[in-house]
Amino acid sequence: MNHYLEHFSRNMGEGGVPEAKREFLEIGRLAGKFPAARSLRDGVTSEISVWCSNDYLGMGQHPLVLAATREALDEYGAGSGGSRNIGGTNHYHVLLEKELADLHGKADALLFTSGYTANDGALTVLAGRPENCVVFSDEMNHASIIDGLRHSGAEKRIFRHNDTAHLEELISATDPDRPKMIVMESVYSMGGDVAPLAEIARIAREHGAMTFLDEVHAVGMYGPEGAGIAAGLGIADEFTVIMGTLAKGFGTTGGYIAGPAELVDAVRGLSRPFIFTTALPPAVAAGALAAVRHLRTSEEERDRLRENARLTHRLLREHGIPFVSDGSHIVSIFVGDDALARRISALLLARHGIYVQAINAPSVRVGQEILRSAPGAVHEPAEVEGFVAALDGIWRELGVTRAQGPHRSP
Ligand code: PMP
Repeated sequence: MNHYLEHFSRNMGEGGVPEAKREFLEIGRLAGKFPAARSLRDGVTSEISVWCSNDYLGMGQHPLVLAATREALDEYGAGSGGSRNIGGTNHYHVLLEKELADLHGKADALLFTSGYTANDGALTVLAGRPENCVVFSDEMNHASIIDGLRHSGAEKRIFRHNDTAHLEELISATDPDRPKMIVMESVYSMGGDVAPLAEIARIAREHGAMTFLDEVHAVGMYGPEGAGIAAGLGIADEFTVIMGTLAKGFGTTGGYIAGPAELVDAVRGLSRPFIFTTALPPAVAAGALAAVRHLRTSEEERDRLRENARLTHRLLREHGIPFVSDGSHIVSIFVGDDALARRISALLLARHGIYVQAINAPSVRVGQEILRSAPGAVHEPAEVEGFVAALDGIWRELGVTRAQGPHRSP
């Protein structure tokens, strides 16, 4: 063993890599039949139903998206061939940025290769540039936000999750002359809960803070034309920068920010994860563009998503299965124990062909383990009933307590 490896192994400590983080279920989502997917387990292929996909609206399988992707693939090939500044910009990137700026009512937008790099790259610049900037960040913000803020070097004050009184207390205690930024999500990825955006906007206004809103789990799904939660409340203007992904509601891959020209331009010119990487393939940008355009005019997918989410909430409540959701399409079934969550997930898969991933640390805190389910626009109401019935059977068999854990949803 070489010197490095010796030290590496020693420093990994007793626990090493969490076992659960090594488990990947190999699946192939079946085009035209999603949520049905093909899964390979122990060398055996079987058909399963996916209940934890982030392709919430099924746009990754939508005929219009597939056609646009294929057409661009045939015309421009598989890759972009370079970074955005050096030969990698295709006109689909430009069209998509225009479309996203327009969707959010902002002057400009900028694409990244993922939502992760959009948060990391944009926040590094936006929080890092104004001298002495202080950032107020929700304690449940995504890892990509945390990393971007760390990379910015800005001073950070964490407010308790969705607790506007705490935010106000922290911001009031800060020198009024310092530049300030408030960073939050709209729909939180693990609890499905929605931020009190109107109240946060008021605090920002009163304290002259800039706001950076991650709408990753909302774009496509909520608001007029799928523009997100803030747009649905009629307050998108109050959020300086809206950040989103193309990988969830829009079914493809990539991330973006939309905001004032001056800020977007600064990120374009300074953000290392934007500059120093290969641009998204044109076919991906073309597919995403088709998804965004379709969802600006079609309500069908949003209606189905809303109905399936409501049905899931109602049935879970009727069966006394604890969950958190806050009325959104992210329905986190609360288990509160790593081994039990994994066991329930394994039983759902083995007996019912239902795939819902158990979520454990570090994605959630120890003792807060969940089965993160996401009833999508693609599920049939009968499948929702089957899903809850399967959960109910396992709950009964394993004697999982029904009163355990938080249980909040309208
Ligand atoms: N923000 C939030 C709140 C997320 O949940 C995620 C990923 N799940 C991201 C950003 C990163 O988005 P992407 O998957 O496009 O990298």
